Amino acid sequence: MTNMVKTDIRSLNLDQIKDAFIANGDKAFRGLQVYEWLWKKACTDFNQMTNLGIETREWLQHNFVINDIATVDKQVSNDGTIKSGFRLHDGHLVEGVLIPADERMTACVSSQVGCSLTCKFCATGKMERERNLTSGEIYDQVVQIRNWAMHHFQKPLTNIVFMGMGEPLLNYANVLKAIDKITSQDGLGMAADRITVSTAGIAKMIRKLADDEVRFNLALSLHAANDAKRNMIMPINESNSLKEVGEALKYFHLKTKKRVTFEYIAFKNFNESIQDAKELLAFCKKFPAKVNVIEYNSTGDGQFEKADSDKIDQFCAYLEKNGVVAKVRRSRGKDIDAACGQLANKKHEEALFQEG
Ligand code: SAH
Repeated sequence: MTNMVKTDIRSLNLDQIKDAFIANGDKAFRGLQVYEWLWKKACTDFNQMTNLGIETREWLQHNFVINDIATVDKQVSNDGTIKSGFRLHDGHLVEGVLIPADERMTACVSSQVGCSLTCKFCATGKMERERNLTSGEIYDQVVQIRNWAMHHFQKPLTNIVFMGMGEPLLNYANVLKAIDKITSQDGLGMAADRITVSTAGIAKMIRKLADDEVRFNLALSLHAANDAKRNMIMPINESNSLKEVGEALKYFHLKTKKRVTFEYIAFKNFNESIQDAKELLAFCKKFPAKVNVIEYNSTGDGQFEKADSDKIDQFCAYLEKNGVVAKVRRSRGKDIDAACGQLANKKHEEALFQEG
């Protein structure tokens, strides 16, 4: 037995894997073979890398690990939405969701274990942030959810949203590395414009996305277009004011030519009046944007209530009348707590509670 902590081989790039083979007196092309197994074939077991000799596989096993994820407690909603926990190699849990629709199959994936941003309406915000996910763990979620789409619906995965647990822009490098593999021909070969990263609004990292000239879409969880109100529900707004975030988004648009989406949860008696719509309109005028008005999904603490549908309709009608595209997004998978903001390992906690 050795006490050596083995390197997660997926944290290495192609050259580093080739170098490891060369250092072991082997051929560099073996590194390429392993790399193809890891990403293009999404293989998480050295023993299944069948074009490598037994000795090579043993050497890999002795020196490296593949920290993959395991699906636990898969649940199917009565609207077809599928949610599952994913157990990470160190025991942590995150969640991912498949949202089926006629014309698309969308995977919703997590980027962190827990979240540090403490948004008042979000179930994940009530958890501590434990750690960032690795690019391999993000990639694995997409691979597994893609398999559900094929298995349950015989359809390929078409879209990915980073709207699961965590703040993707606070795990910037790993999220971008995962997207690079998801979109690369060496990986899953999916189109970047079918991927949306959703952020609570970290101005500095939005600017970095622009400088990195990313090709995926960006959504801002706005929820209030007035600093005083936004501070009340999203503490991140205190250090990233609407002005700063707005300027960063303007820069993002300038660099990428992408139209940003604003997510706007309509809370009863809080942000769904015509005055709120006017403020939102003013914010939308800064650069091309569209608005998704989202129904609030209860997280069970009674702090917020969802807005009435006629109020939501009036709110959207006001925006539309003034030239802003605004759509109401009805929630999916509510019966299994798979809807936005409801991901908090509830099922697993209940299971643990019952076991205990
Ligand atoms: N941290 C990122 C991504 C995770 S949240 C972000 O803030 O965007 C994904 C989306 O779910 C966000 O738009 C978030 O505001 C929304 N959301 C969170 N809690 C919700 C709730 N209880 N009901 C409806 N949407 C919620």
